[in-house]
Amino acid sequence: PNQRLINQTCIVTGGSSGIGSAVAKAIASEGANVVINYNSSKASAEELAHEISKDKRAGDVITCQADVSQEQDVQRLFKTSKDQFKHIDICVSNAGIQKDSPLHAMRLADWNKVIGVNLTGQFLCARAALNEFMNTGIRKDVSRSAGKIIHMSSVHEVIPWAGHANYAASKGGIAMLMQSICQGYAQYKIRCNSIAPGAIKTPINKEVWQDEAKMKKLLKLIPYDEIGEPSEIGSVASWLASDESEYINGTTIYVDGGMTCYPGFTTNG
Ligand code: NAD
Repeated sequence: PNQRLINQTCIVTGGSSGIGSAVAKAIASEGANVVINYNSSKASAEELAHEISKDKRAGDVITCQADVSQEQDVQRLFKTSKDQFKHIDICVSNAGIQKDSPLHAMRLADWNKVIGVNLTGQFLCARAALNEFMNTGIRKDVSRSAGKIIHMSSVHEVIPWAGHANYAASKGGIAMLMQSICQGYAQYKIRCNSIAPGAIKTPINKEVWQDEAKMKKLLKLIPYDEIGEPSEIGSVASWLASDESEYINGTTIYVDGGMTCYPGFTTNG
């Protein structure tokens, strides 16, 4: 009762840590089956699957290794998921990396790696999800949409980030990928949206929140004066995957404590 994703199946890429793990837990708690994709962290993926399987509200859970930047890996991820659960209803493309460097010194390999995982990976997953959703159509007993794609973007899809141009470019690219998908596939009742987290406490930025001085500097960028928790992204993702947000399509939802409101311009205190 009151569970919003019963009998649906969700793939979460990069699901073994940080935001992906919180999304997997939140979506499972709504009754969905979950496929936890990981690239190299098998042990943490299995640990999370074990934790989720103890949640009485959750559907079934499996883990699946795949490098989202590799076409055949993504095809295998979707085939494994479909073989196991028969239908795929939700794809949360969450896997993402940073390889930071001033642009004038950035190695081509670091540019390509970030674009490969963060943008090409999102394309490959979206393409596979679209084919699955278009072939299956609306499963009226579980949802009013034929499928839901959720891209994990970042505030850096709109905030420039010198020293991280490969990352910012990949996230800016996700915005146009997401909106182009919405424009083309809404007619099939497929919904495609992005979540743009601000600063969330995960392994990707631990060198910031583990350091008091860096943390103080970071908080100056956040009007709400707090770093976010992964569960705060999980709750938005599970709502965005549910029929409660049915008419939301082609949108980026910022979950950032106001970071995109440029607190540097504050003059009232
Ligand atoms: P994280 O490092 O814990 O998560 C990233 C996950 O992606 C890891 O589990 C990693 O193993 C996985 N991954 C990396 N390369 C992969 C590949 N080739 N194939 C499959 N999986 C791969 O960090 P996180 O903060 O949880 O990041 C999750 C997403 O949220 C990323 O897309 C990131 O850009 C985005 N994001 C995070 C923040 C933040 O403040 N933490 C802010 C904005 C956006």
